Amino acid sequence: MKKVFNHLKWFFKENKYIYIAIFSLLLFISIIQVFPAKFLGIVIDKITEGSLNYQNLILLILGLFGFPLMKYLLNRIYHYNIHRLGHDLLFKLREMYITHLFELDNETYEKYTKGDLIARATNDMNNLSIFATSFIQSIVFNTGTIIAAIVMMTIINPLLTLASVFFMPIAIFWLNRRRLKKRKYYKKHQEIYANMTENVLESIEGVKTIRAYKQEENDFKKTKKAIDDDVNSWWYILKFESIYGPLFELVYALCYFIGIGLGSYFVIESKISTGDLVTFLMYVGMLYAPLINLSNMLNNINTINISDERFFEIMDIEPNVKDIDEAIDVFKFKEIEFKNVSFKYPFDNFDVIKNITFTIKCGETIGIVGPTGAGKSTLIRQLLREFNVSSGEILIDGNNIENYKIEDVHNLVGYVPQDHILFRRSVDENILIGNPTASINKINEAITIADFKKDLNSLPQGINTLVSEYGSSLSGGQKQRLSIARALVKDPEILLLDDSLSAVDALTEKNIISKLKEFRKDKTNIIVAHRFSAIKQSDKIIVLQDGKITDIGTHKELLSYDNWYKSQYLKQINNEVLEDE
Ligand code: ADP
Repeated sequence: MKKVFNHLKWFFKENKYIYIAIFSLLLFISIIQVFPAKFLGIVIDKITEGSLNYQNLILLILGLFGFPLMKYLLNRIYHYNIHRLGHDLLFKLREMYITHLFELDNETYEKYTKGDLIARATNDMNNLSIFATSFIQSIVFNTGTIIAAIVMMTIINPLLTLASVFFMPIAIFWLNRRRLKKRKYYKKHQEIYANMTENVLESIEGVKTIRAYKQEENDFKKTKKAIDDDVNSWWYILKFESIYGPLFELVYALCYFIGIGLGSYFVIESKISTGDLVTFLMYVGMLYAPLINLSNMLNNINTINISDERFFEIMDIEPNVKDIDEAIDVFKFKEIEFKNVSFKYPFDNFDVIKNITFTIKCGETIGIVGPTGAGKSTLIRQLLREFNVSSGEILIDGNNIENYKIEDVHNLVGYVPQDHILFRRSVDENILIGNPTASINKINEAITIADFKKDLNSLPQGINTLVSEYGSSLSGGQKQRLSIARALVKDPEILLLDDSLSAVDALTEKNIISKLKEFRKDKTNIIVAHRFSAIKQSDKIIVLQDGKITDIGTHKELLSYDNWYKSQYLKQINNEVLEDE
């Protein structure tokens, strides 16, 4: 609990005056609650003494009605403020979480599933908000009520008070110790919940593929199992609760019984008045709800602690790829050198690219070819600084890439990935993600180079057409061209096309390649392609096989002797001739 408090200390400090006001209000409300019972006792005594008059009666009615009314009005003020605090905290935690997620490198995204990251931003974050609001409020209010009631009971008779409430704390303490055992089930439940979220997310994302392959039933079974697991694990916790929760009622009934029995004896012995006994029993009655609430809240500490652990497990991750102290700026470059670079993905145990050495000169167009799985994407993605290389170094103008500001390196590069990530926004907004401050001219230029102009005419509202989720309203080729336009609007020093021309026809590919030459004369282009026509005009072609460079040269040079490039090229043009026939 101390840990949770320390994690949220900044929020308590920020809102300390509101918290002080709320706590004072709660304590005030908990104190005024004890008065109606006192009034009733006084009136009962007046009745038994035969001294009740109209004045006393009016005072009693005013007291019985006035205090609850005051409590209601104060409660309204309190509820408004506590809910505001809760929402404020959720908003801030979410902002922190999302900002942090953007700072994390790809290793985290390899380790945690989307569903898990979402569960931490919903369920676990809500529990933290509960801690900062209802939890603290409940502790203050219920403790205040219990103390106020016990003080009033002690004033009536200390011995009666001791006898009546003696078993209550013992029972609560014992129950909470039993409930602590639930902790490990709750942790498991949170993991099961995260798995269920991931399953539901996957089904929603993959709905078209699932339908196309008629896998609805299988997918439903898988998702249903995840949901059943979630419900079952929750049932287990509920069952646990249902055994131990009602036990307290039994203990409470015993306390009430002692109160009535011993209290009546004290009335007979004239140690207390009848009115006092009624007031006393009302106070015993008043203790029940706060004790149960307090016990539940203390029991919630487990849940809150687990949520705190889960949430801050992500918040405490330090990215491996981060700016060094005094990182250098870079806006342009003359030469990038890969020097014996090897790289393995964090959770693999083999190098995907091995001992790679080559240079990229500013203004060059470099083609990269090789069989699927050879490591082409992995190689060019090294320029995105998603991970640190495992060995060797990448030098930009003689300086290790790790010495430059990550943001600057990102700014150098315009990357078009194999999977086109499009957002549910208009076409121009999707392009502007590449450069939100781009002028109309720049947007038009990017559209021209990407050969996307013709597509705009076929879209119902041209550039303002809303792209459906994941770009599902566009064809594969349109998605690729839109993604290329997005990278180009940035006018990047290095354009990385990661097999980004695979879904366009030969003529469009030719147009894009020639426009790239025309508009990006002094800039660098790195093109990964399966079709040789996309890279044959490159200044340098790298052939990558099984993570190693097996050949480097121009198209002409590579065709001058027998090698993988030549055999694949001839195979491809033969196939094209056959297709044309
Ligand atoms: P290519 O672009 O040549 O098809 P990739 O660079 O995509 O090849 O993949 C090279 C190898 O790296 C493959 O064996 C692939 O399974 C593996 N790989 C790619 N991405 C990851 C990843 N995120 N984690 C682990 N292995 C990966």
